[in-house]
Amino acid sequence: MWETLRGHQNQVEMFRRAIGRGRVAHAYLFIGPSGIGKRLFARMMTQSLFCEQVPDSEFDACGKCPPCKQVLAGTHPDLLEIGCPEGKRELPIALIAGRDENRGKEGLCHDIAMRPMSANRRVAIIDDANTMNEASANSLLKTLEEPPPGAILFLMTPSLDSILPTIRSRCQMVRFSPLPERDIAELLVELGDVETPAQAEKVAQYAEGNLATAQQLLDPGLFQLKTTVSSCLSSLPVDSLQSVKMITSVFDELGGDTSQQRQNMRWANQFCIEVLRLSIRESADPLTTERLMSMLDRCFEAESHLRQTMPVLLCLEAMFDDLARLSRVAVPV
Ligand SMILES: [Zn+2]
Repeated sequence: MWETLRGHQNQVEMFRRAIGRGRVAHAYLFIGPSGIGKRLFARMMTQSLFCEQVPDSEFDACGKCPPCKQVLAGTHPDLLEIGCPEGKRELPIALIAGRDENRGKEGLCHDIAMRPMSANRRVAIIDDANTMNEASANSLLKTLEEPPPGAILFLMTPSLDSILPTIRSRCQMVRFSPLPERDIAELLVELGDVETPAQAEKVAQYAEGNLATAQQLLDPGLFQLKTTVSSCLSSLPVDSLQSVKMITSVFDELGGDTSQQRQNMRWANQFCIEVLRLSIRESADPLTTERLMSMLDRCFEAESHLRQTMPVLLCLEAMFDDLARLSRVAVPV
């Protein structure tokens, strides 16, 4: 089964050794950008634990028995999966600890403590763990402090920033890297998303190791927007006037009504965030890293401006003025 997984072979080996020695932790924190296969990895691990045909110690799965199929389909009664719903900013506490009127009597923390129904343990996958509020995190903490026997929790997060230290300290951390460009290109071909391998290679180059991003970039307009944003942020300090000019000209080409333009600005902002995150990962100079971090914060601020009614052009200009300023100073004033 693991041969079908793209990338992450070091992580596979690490788990294979741990399971071979019977050392499975109760909780793992998977850290890495979204869209690179962390959740898929957790599901495959669950498959290897639930498979009827292959013993746990072999750390593999047949993919054909009923439990294997149920895990793949997301219907296995002992696999609990939650995440931040589409369009929401926060993982609802109801999913973790139950609704107000039923607090503690339902939700993931309750369900994971129940006896397994068909497997010999229960597994939970908590996607977007970084979007838990403090109350949710505290509820989860109780489960992590006294985990039900055999239970395994997988928490997914793009970075450690918004994970409480108390949660971190009770999880074994596993870092995942973006996929190599070649894997992204091959995946696009395998999934039938592209017509030619050349097309796959072209978008893979800008996808930052993220399959989901690569798939979005198959839209020629978005691809152009992404490459433009990348070139605007490719060297510091940022040239605000030139950047706004280049990006608005792509917006003009993309056209569309006001709401479409707002959506395009969201894309541009999303691309800024991706480019800055990658630059932060690659930056070796603390001063530059600090600049990039404050620029990243500014992009997150723009996200909230866009959810309000700030006109798109104003939002773009204000953002690039600030990015230009922040790219010159060490600490934001
Ligand atoms: Zn199986």
